[in-house]
Amino acid sequence: MACQENSAPAGSSGFGNCSRLAAALLFALALGPGAALCRPQEAAQEHLPPPRLASDKHVDAHVAEAIRQVSADHIRQTIEKLVSFQTRSTISAQDDESIKAGKGIGAAREWIKAEFERYSKACGGCLEVKTDSFTERPGERIPKPTEITNVYAVLRGSDPKQADRIVLVTGHYDSRNSDILNTTDLAPGANDDGSGTAVSLECARVLSQEAREKKFPATIIFLTVAGEEQGLNGSKHFAEMAKQQGWKLEAALNNDIVGGNIGPGQDAGVVRVFSEGLPAAASEADIKRIRTLGRESDSTSRELARYIADVGRSYDAGVKPLLIFRLDRFLRGGDHYSFNQQGFAAVRFTEFREDFNRQHQNIRQDNASGIQYGDLAKFVDFDYVAHVARLNAATLAALASAPGPPANVKMLTKNLENDTTLTWEPSAGAAAYEVVWRSTSAADWEYVQPVGSGTRATLSVSKDNEIFGVRAVDASGHRSLPVIPEPER
Ligand SMILES: [Zn+2]
Repeated sequence: MACQENSAPAGSSGFGNCSRLAAALLFALALGPGAALCRPQEAAQEHLPPPRLASDKHVDAHVAEAIRQVSADHIRQTIEKLVSFQTRSTISAQDDESIKAGKGIGAAREWIKAEFERYSKACGGCLEVKTDSFTERPGERIPKPTEITNVYAVLRGSDPKQADRIVLVTGHYDSRNSDILNTTDLAPGANDDGSGTAVSLECARVLSQEAREKKFPATIIFLTVAGEEQGLNGSKHFAEMAKQQGWKLEAALNNDIVGGNIGPGQDAGVVRVFSEGLPAAASEADIKRIRTLGRESDSTSRELARYIADVGRSYDAGVKPLLIFRLDRFLRGGDHYSFNQQGFAAVRFTEFREDFNRQHQNIRQDNASGIQYGDLAKFVDFDYVAHVARLNAATLAALASAPGPPANVKMLTKNLENDTTLTWEPSAGAAAYEVVWRSTSAADWEYVQPVGSGTRATLSVSKDNEIFGVRAVDASGHRSLPVIPEPER
């Protein structure tokens, strides 16, 4: 080894795996004194800094300020208002009289719409408030044709070249009690999913205010869907619309049961983030390729989850994401799955420990045990919901501030060699690119190598031993989602 002396600093660098980092340093240091001796033949990049730990933070002061504006008190008002509609069952009343009386899903829908419009007025009309309505055919949980309405607000991206890139946050505003077909008795749904609806609304409020000062190049959508309890009907319709219209939807953050239920065993310091491994939309051929390449833990949803972990390290949201490498909890489903089915990256946020006596239950007290059943607002920890809203808002803002992920990322595998050469196409808004990598057995990215503004890099790290990704960064350091390279022969 001609460059042995160059690998010496690795031992004192604080990195865990000397041999792997030594290889990376060899690459970087190859460009210093004595470079001619050890420079890989294919190395196209020059004057590169040494690799960093991938856990390095990036903080945008505007985003940090925006998430400070999230208000637990405002979230409490939102959830209490949603509970006041008595039931938000998707098949409950939505006629004019019920809306006027403030009862049923129609009244909830009109209030959410008015709330988005109020936020828009406060930011000089920066939000486009929209509805996505359709008639659902009768089914097991829908006795007769039923109009279902998703309500959403669009904060249009400021860069014409990037405004077609979309990130979204969602929660479901419908609720249920013990009987899925009951349309009249109380179904407060404070936690499930008044909490998630409040997160989407609060993100809309603070980020629309922030947009007066800071430009978000990409578009952010704040969504609230109905029909979740009946069978994910609302999100299914919305995700299908996004797919049919060819939306460049990069991320969907689904918040469902993020109330931080007050009770034994709760951990208010974390929020679970569920992400699928094998993509729901993968074809047989896709699965074969995933198996061959060892990419079982690299779906776009999983990369999104890792991005949220990165945001969680960078910003003080008050709650840390706890990544769960699984689509959802046992016996349960959620709206993120509707997006996964259409091939979009989507994850689910849910509190650490759920209380099943308080979900999907009629309000009642059991005399013998003293247990209070029902999804009441008094069991919601509003500070916790605010923390989860901060993590969501920071993630949306970070993604919408970042350049688009690089396209057509390739890893050259023409020859047997121990180096790794990656190529990609430039992305709008990018000032530079970074290669991230981790051991095949590591859960999260470990190292990052800045590779300048070109579209090709060679690292002296073996593609056989590591998993690589390429991400774009702008001049201020905002990071895109990483893209896993496709092998090219
Ligand atoms: Zn739910």
